[in-house]
Amino acid sequence: MQGKLIIISAPSGSGKTSIIKEVLKHFGNIEFSRSATTRQPRKDEKHGEDYYFMTLQAFKRSIEQDEFLEYEQVYQKQYYGTLKSELTRIWKKGNHVIFDVDVNGGLNIKKKYPDQSLGLFIMPPSLEELKRRLEIRARDDDRSINQRLNKAKTELVYAHNFDKVIVNDNLEEAVSEAIMGIDQFLKKG
Ligand code: 5GP
Repeated sequence: MQGKLIIISAPSGSGKTSIIKEVLKHFGNIEFSRSATTRQPRKDEKHGEDYYFMTLQAFKRSIEQDEFLEYEQVYQKQYYGTLKSELTRIWKKGNHVIFDVDVNGGLNIKKKYPDQSLGLFIMPPSLEELKRRLEIRARDDDRSINQRLNKAKTELVYAHNFDKVIVNDNLEEAVSEAIMGIDQFLKKG
């Protein structure tokens, strides 16, 4: 059976991870697609839980073997990709899949499954607020924060290509908006 695909895309720091966590708590039949990446795990991240951490060599081998549904060089020297095996793993259990991917990745997935997917774009209230959140989070160094801000500027332009744009001004409201949109989409049959 093929389930549905729920794509959540947003600039880094827009709060999409928090929104996805709440969505997963709410729906028992949606599962998170763990991406593969060549970036180093952060302190609290575990292989196979947050990401499948891969060496550049292993990642390139998977590209050659056509194992990715989509992949992207998101930041310099850092690759991120969705393995086709994630989709089949989750669908086999009869569940729907939720993706946390960048804007390009989201649009690529939507192109491959136009009728089965819902694309939600999480919009930060402003670039100033995004910068503030990235700095408070203090997870990335200054260089990475700047990389993330520059990428955000280009990503915001593509928001209108998604099915729904949710402004994350207030997390609780953004979560209920996301849940409502997903609920409607899943009920559509
Ligand atoms: P982070 O390094 O902060 O975990 O993620 C950086 C960016 O990569 C985020 O915008 C995230 O959505 C994106 N990303 C994570 N996994 C994938 C993936 O499988 N494909 C694509 N295209 N982007 C991804």
